[in-house]
Amino acid sequence: MNDLLPLEIPGIDPSKPLVIAGPCSAETEEQVLCSAKDLASYGIKIFRAGIWKPRTKPGGFEGVGQPGLEWLKKVKEITGMYTSTEVATKQHVEQALAAGVDILWIGARTSANPFAVQEIADAIKAAGATDIPLLVKNPVNPDLELWIGALQRFYNAGIRRLGAIHRGFSAYGKHLYRNMPQWHIPLELRLRYPNLPIICDPSHIGGKRELIAPLSQQALDMGFNGLIIESHCNPDEAWSDASQQVTPEILNFILNTLVVRDEKQSTENLTLLRQQIDQIDNDLLEVLSKRLRVCREIGQYKKEHRMPVVQPNRYNDIMHDRIQVAEEMGIGADFMRTVLLAIHEESVRQQIEVLNDRSR
Ligand code: PEP
Ligand code: MN
Repeated sequence: MNDLLPLEIPGIDPSKPLVIAGPCSAETEEQVLCSAKDLASYGIKIFRAGIWKPRTKPGGFEGVGQPGLEWLKKVKEITGMYTSTEVATKQHVEQALAAGVDILWIGARTSANPFAVQEIADAIKAAGATDIPLLVKNPVNPDLELWIGALQRFYNAGIRRLGAIHRGFSAYGKHLYRNMPQWHIPLELRLRYPNLPIICDPSHIGGKRELIAPLSQQALDMGFNGLIIESHCNPDEAWSDASQQVTPEILNFILNTLVVRDEKQSTENLTLLRQQIDQIDNDLLEVLSKRLRVCREIGQYKKEHRMPVVQPNRYNDIMHDRIQVAEEMGIGADFMRTVLLAIHEESVRQQIEVLNDRSR
């Protein structure tokens, strides 16, 4: 996947993070249009709304289906926004393309299913629509290979305007996040495919309104290329994912508080700080090695004088004194105990080596 094309959408500044916003689900024409108009008034250019909703259990709201596509057409006509929706079957692809949806995404439950992914890829190819931007959410389970596999199926079908959406990974039980971010997984994806844009979905990671801002900032700080955020004109009454949706007004507030870091600046500063860390680590290693050398000399002395290697009082005194000093320097006592213990163990090991070394 080394000849991917940028997502590049006419009228949208490619140097800024891509922002996609809209309700979790299209519910009614009124709800879609009121959400879209408000979002457009705050400068949002890409609208999202789920038309078909994959629900964990039957009996919930499973999306309005095809009639909702007519509302997305109206969103385009009235606001000029681009529209995007989730597709999970061949029929969804055909209907969404026929309705002029501009961007498609693959949901987390679908990208975990290679048969479904292949069916969608084939349907896009058969429709001659391989130039459509397509975003692939990570599979629900933390499996980078499965995520990459889904992207490759679309790539093999001829789709080049590909992007990935990081929406977190499910975990058993209750946690702060609805879906665990496991940031190292999207970061590994970035390392493997540097040209693949990665967009963060803080709404589905956090599952709560108050986590949208911090997660978004974290994503931008890590160099993500955009955000997809759920926004509804009346979030408390939303038919799906009510607790994680915000009004367009709040969304606008959140977006305005985010700091888009200057990449060049921040990496330059970071490089300087990292150079300092490298230097300090070198110093630490030198000091450690010096300490162990002295320990071996002590071992030699003890050997010549037939003294035991470990003298408990000395060890206790060292621990006590060092931890006190460390605490004064802002270093945690538990951490210091662990470090000193490890150093002590290695010192003893090296002294025993000296003791058993018959050449000395
Ligand atoms: C959604 O975007 O509303 C959705 C269903 O997300 P996910 O596939 O990430 O659960
Ligand atoms: Mn949702």
